Amino acid sequence: MKRPRARWWMTAVGLLWAAALLGAATSRTDLDQKWRKDLQGLLREDVRRMADPAWEGRGPGTKGQEQAAEYLAGRMRGFGLEPGGEDGAFFQPIEVTTGVEVGVPGGLEVRGRRFAVGEDFQPIGFSTNGTLKAPVVFAGYGITAPAFDYDDYAGLDVRDKLVLVLTQEPGEMDSTSRFDGSVNTPHAELRTKAINAREHGALGMLVVNGPRHHAGEPLRKPRADGAGYMTSGLLAAQLSEKAAQALLPPGATLASLQEAIDSRGRPHSIALPESAIVTVTLKRTKAVIRNVVGWIPGRDTTRTLVVGAHYDHLGYGGESSLAPNERVPHVGADDNASGVAAMMEVASRAGRHAKAGRRPLHNLVFCAYTGEEMGLVGSGHFVDQPTRPLESIEAMLNMDMVGRLRDNRLMVMGTGTATEFADFVPRVNQATEKFDLKTSSDGFGPSDHSSFYKRKVPVLMLFTGAHADYHRPSDTWDKVNYEGLSKVARFAAALIDSLDARPKPTYVRAQADSSMGRIAGGGGYGAYLGTIPDYLKTEGGVLLSGVRNGSPAEKAGLRGGDVIVKFDGVRIDNIYDYTFALRSRKPGQEVRITVHRGGADVDVVALLGRRP
Ligand SMILES: [Zn+2]
Repeated sequence: MKRPRARWWMTAVGLLWAAALLGAATSRTDLDQKWRKDLQGLLREDVRRMADPAWEGRGPGTKGQEQAAEYLAGRMRGFGLEPGGEDGAFFQPIEVTTGVEVGVPGGLEVRGRRFAVGEDFQPIGFSTNGTLKAPVVFAGYGITAPAFDYDDYAGLDVRDKLVLVLTQEPGEMDSTSRFDGSVNTPHAELRTKAINAREHGALGMLVVNGPRHHAGEPLRKPRADGAGYMTSGLLAAQLSEKAAQALLPPGATLASLQEAIDSRGRPHSIALPESAIVTVTLKRTKAVIRNVVGWIPGRDTTRTLVVGAHYDHLGYGGESSLAPNERVPHVGADDNASGVAAMMEVASRAGRHAKAGRRPLHNLVFCAYTGEEMGLVGSGHFVDQPTRPLESIEAMLNMDMVGRLRDNRLMVMGTGTATEFADFVPRVNQATEKFDLKTSSDGFGPSDHSSFYKRKVPVLMLFTGAHADYHRPSDTWDKVNYEGLSKVARFAAALIDSLDARPKPTYVRAQADSSMGRIAGGGGYGAYLGTIPDYLKTEGGVLLSGVRNGSPAEKAGLRGGDVIVKFDGVRIDNIYDYTFALRSRKPGQEVRITVHRGGADVDVVALLGRRP
C-alpha cells in the first residue's frame, strides 16, 4: 500500500516541478491575483442574476430554469471549458414528472346527487385513476397509532370499501390530547392516512376537514410539485363538508361525529348507510430538465475530479417550501445560487490556467445539477449515466448553501470518506483561508455528494449553515455574505489544486454522524433500520443504495441494490409506504422484510433499533 502511494506522490511533485519550470511562475501568480481581485464582484453578479424572480425560482419545468441552464452553459463556454454533456453539448437532459393536473371525468355521486370537481370534490395528488362504487365507512381520523394507544380501525371492516376520514388528528389544539395537541404528529399527514386505509383493505379514501377547527376552508388543489405524484395505491379525494354530509345517516352531522371522538379521546367509527361512486382522473405532467456539464481535459485523462453544485430551486414553492401557501418565486440565493456561483468561479480559474498552457493533471468536470430539490435527480442521473467514466472519478467536491458565512465558520462534510481527508482538509485550510472548520465524517447528506458517495467516490461538501430564510421566498441575493462566499470559492479552488496534486484518495465507508442527519431533516421518530434509499427509483419498491455501518439493516443482511417490496406485512411500492411502515413499528420489534435481489425474492428478519 505504501509504495505505490509514495510513487504517485513523487510523480505528482515531479510534474508540478516541471510545470513550474516550463511556465513562468510569475504569470501563474498574476492570473490568480487577477482572479482574486474580480472574484467578489463576479460572485455577486452571478448570485443576483440566478436569484432574480424573473428566473422563477429555477423550478423544474419552468422557463426560468431553462434560462439559468443556458446562462451557465454560456459562462462555461466563455471560460474555455469543453462541453461535458451529451452529444457534444453542455447539457444532459432528463425526463421527469413535475406534477399532476386534474382531468375529466371526475367527481362524487351519492344517491344520484352529483358533486363535481371544484368546490365539493378535489382529487388528491397521490390518488390512483379510476372509478369506484363502494359502501362507505366513517373511520374517524383514519389513524392507527399504537404508540398513542389509538386506532380508528379497531373492529372496523373496511375491506373493498371507501373510508371517509377527517383531516388532522384527535384533539388538535388541545393540550390534554393523547396526541401532541399543538404540533401535528406524522399520523396527521394525508399520505399516512391513505397508506393506513390501503393497508386495512380499503379501495378509496375520502377526506374532509374537521369542522371543529377548519369549517369552510377551501379544498386544496393537488400539489403539482416534488414527489407528490407517487401514488398511494388507492383512490383519494378531498370533499367539502356539504358533500361529506350527504354520506351520513339522517340526524348525524360531521361536527357531532368529530365531537364524539375529541371529547372522549377515543375512536368513534361507524359504517354509513350510503354507497358512493368516486371518479378520479389525474394527468401526470412531464418535463425535460437538464444538468449543465463542462470540463477541462487533464494531462492524465484517466483521472477525474468533479466539482458540483445544484442550480435548481423550489420554483414557486410547494411541498418542500417552508412557506407552502405562498405562490411566489423562491429565488434560492443561498440555496443554491451561492454554491453554483462559487463552482463557476473555480471553473473560471481553471479555464484561465488551461488557456495559459497549464492544464491540470486530472480532468476537471464541473456540473451544475438540476432536480436536487426533487430528490437528487440530476446528480443521480449523472452517476447512472456519467459523461466521464465513473471509475476515473477520484473525488467529488460539492457546494450547497455556502453564501451565509458567519463567525468564519465553515462546515465540511465527508471528511471520513477517504482515509486522507481528515488530515488533508484542515491542512489546506490552515495554509489558505483559516476558517473555523466544523467537520463531519459522513458522506451521506441532503445534497448531491450523496449520489457520488453511494458509488464509492470520496466526497467533500462545503456548507455555511442553515438559517431562517431556508426554503422560503426570503432567501434573497442581498442577504448573501459575498466576502464569505469569496473565501469559500478560494478554499474550493485550493482543495481542487491539492487534490489534483495528490495520489488518488482512498475511499472508506464513513461513520454516520447523527448531528448532520438532523440538519437533513432525518428527525428521530419511531424505529430505526439504517437503510439508505435511492430516491431516483420512485415506484415498484424502495431501492437501497446502501446500508449504514453497524445498523440493524446491515446486521439483517440487507445491502445496496436490494429493493424492499414488503415490510412486516406492509406492501412497499415507494418511499412513503416505507416511511409509514417504519414509523408504525417500535424499536426492539422484529420484522420480516422481503427484498428483490438479483431476480429472486429474499426474506430477512431485522431487529429494529432506536434512531441514533
Ligand atoms: Zn434546498
